[in-house]
Amino acid sequence: MAGVAALAGAPALVRLTRKAPRPLAGALLDDSSAAGHGLRDGRADVAVRRVVRTPVVIVGGGVAGLSAAWWMQRQGMRDFVVLELARNAGGNARGGENAVSAYPWGAHYVPVPHPRAEHVRLLFAEMGILGADGTWSETDLCHAPKERTFIHGRWREGQLEAFAMDATEQGELRRFEETVEALRASGAFTVPLALGAAEHDVAASPLDGLTADAWLAREGYRSPALRWLVDYACRDDFGTRARDASAWAALHYFAARDHDEDGPLTWADGNARLVRHLASRVGDRVVTGAPVRRVERRGGGLRVLAGDTAWECDAVVWAAPTFLAPHVVEGAPAVPWRYAPWMVANLTLDRRPAARAQDAPEAWDNVIADSPALGYVVATHQALRGVPDERTVWTYYWPLADAAPADARRRLLALDWRACAEHALTDLERAHPDLRACVSRVDVLRYGHAMPRPEPGFLAARRAWWDPPRDARVLYANSDVSGLSLFEEAQWRGIAAAERALALVGRV
Ligand SMILES: Cc1cc2nc3c(=O)[nH]c(=O)nc-3n(C[C@H](O)[C@H](O)[C@H](O)COP(=O)(O)OP(=O)(O)OC[C@H]3O[C@@H](n4cnc5c(N)ncnc54)[C@H](O)[C@@H]3O)c2cc1C
Repeated sequence: MAGVAALAGAPALVRLTRKAPRPLAGALLDDSSAAGHGLRDGRADVAVRRVVRTPVVIVGGGVAGLSAAWWMQRQGMRDFVVLELARNAGGNARGGENAVSAYPWGAHYVPVPHPRAEHVRLLFAEMGILGADGTWSETDLCHAPKERTFIHGRWREGQLEAFAMDATEQGELRRFEETVEALRASGAFTVPLALGAAEHDVAASPLDGLTADAWLAREGYRSPALRWLVDYACRDDFGTRARDASAWAALHYFAARDHDEDGPLTWADGNARLVRHLASRVGDRVVTGAPVRRVERRGGGLRVLAGDTAWECDAVVWAAPTFLAPHVVEGAPAVPWRYAPWMVANLTLDRRPAARAQDAPEAWDNVIADSPALGYVVATHQALRGVPDERTVWTYYWPLADAAPADARRRLLALDWRACAEHALTDLERAHPDLRACVSRVDVLRYGHAMPRPEPGFLAARRAWWDPPRDARVLYANSDVSGLSLFEEAQWRGIAAAERALALVGRV
């Protein structure tokens, strides 16, 4: 939370605000937390006026819920409904659009999937992103330059390459790469997780018994650049510092992907592109603005209450965040894991800030090395060149990883729109001093529970949710059941739950 603390009293902020008279527009987006708190506190009760019978109800229209629906549809099953709390489906992979560009509100890329990630490849083939000849569509692969880092007062190409490393540091880096290569070759580090051995044999994963920082220290890694990279990886994928994240999870970030993959795959509005496709396949069986307030046993089946409708069904795929289940699902246990809060801000720019000759050019992903946030991604990066447009949208990502999640969440939710916008501008001004003169809008989304934190022990802690008894009728599918909040995990969990649901209702 260094960022918020700095914001509260920063003399630099006062000075910059004074010399920047340009009016700033923008708003806080509805993060659905009011609806969520209503469910938690039992304030969402409405009289039932309609009873509908359907074999399967999917709760939550994020990637996991939509993937469950997509899979059932592919298996020829039509008798299901997806109930989504928000006005639009997508969850953490939703996007937005304004006159300048479409942009992401959360998830914004998927690495090129490994050949064993069959379902991801199937989806991408269906969408034309993966060709019949095995090649990836050039328009969907991230264009160069992919990343740059602001360090020691200037933008430099790449990430680790941006750090000046002496021979000792370079030796450590080579040793780290060899270790990662050996872990990769072991086959235990996979995306989705379920393809590897670790998920089923957690005793064979002692790396999940210590934090990433403790592992680095134990292995004698002292390089500031390497320690920065591991910490950045944990903040980037888990919203968690290396001092809190499981060493297994941190190493998974490096070992689960091919060293020389061509990706990532990315779109102007990020993974909302994938959500739109999934939702289009499922059509009107997605009901939005339908928060589920109760799932209860009814005879041999289940009854799901949303608005004034009671859905009577045989199986529920619970694809909403799992921490909500104890407030809604009869008999659901509390989850033992914690969630990281995040802030995302979309900055609309009328023109780009001035670039200096020594700066590496703007990239897709632009990281400020000594920031508590992750920098920004350029929404128009994939636009075809030739029609230069000075206008763009930058998506700024800030995982509040420095404090305990509950404290960080309280502090984030106490920030109003202006404080959130100031946080983003003040942070980015370090790399772009004239930024305020370029930005016309800052729109902000605060996520109280953005993603699960994979803290030590996370592999074993989740088994009861992803591997329920054969006769369980509530099947947990949110990506938080994997512990790693990734598109591929959401899709895998959704499909796995859909298959169980199909078996339960005798449709396989
Ligand atoms: C800021 C951010 C950036 C990210 N970037 C990436 C990225 O670049 N690449 C990547 O792979 N992953 C990224 N992720 C991870 C992302 O969470 C996953 O990829 C994936 O989108 C999660 O999908 P999900 O369906 O499991 O969960 P969610 O997206 O959380 O979906 C759950 C859905 O359930 C709904 N819901 C909640 N309660 C109820 C209720 N009572 N009734 C009905 N519906 C309910 C919610 O509204 C939501 O739509 C990012 C996450 C965040 C927060």
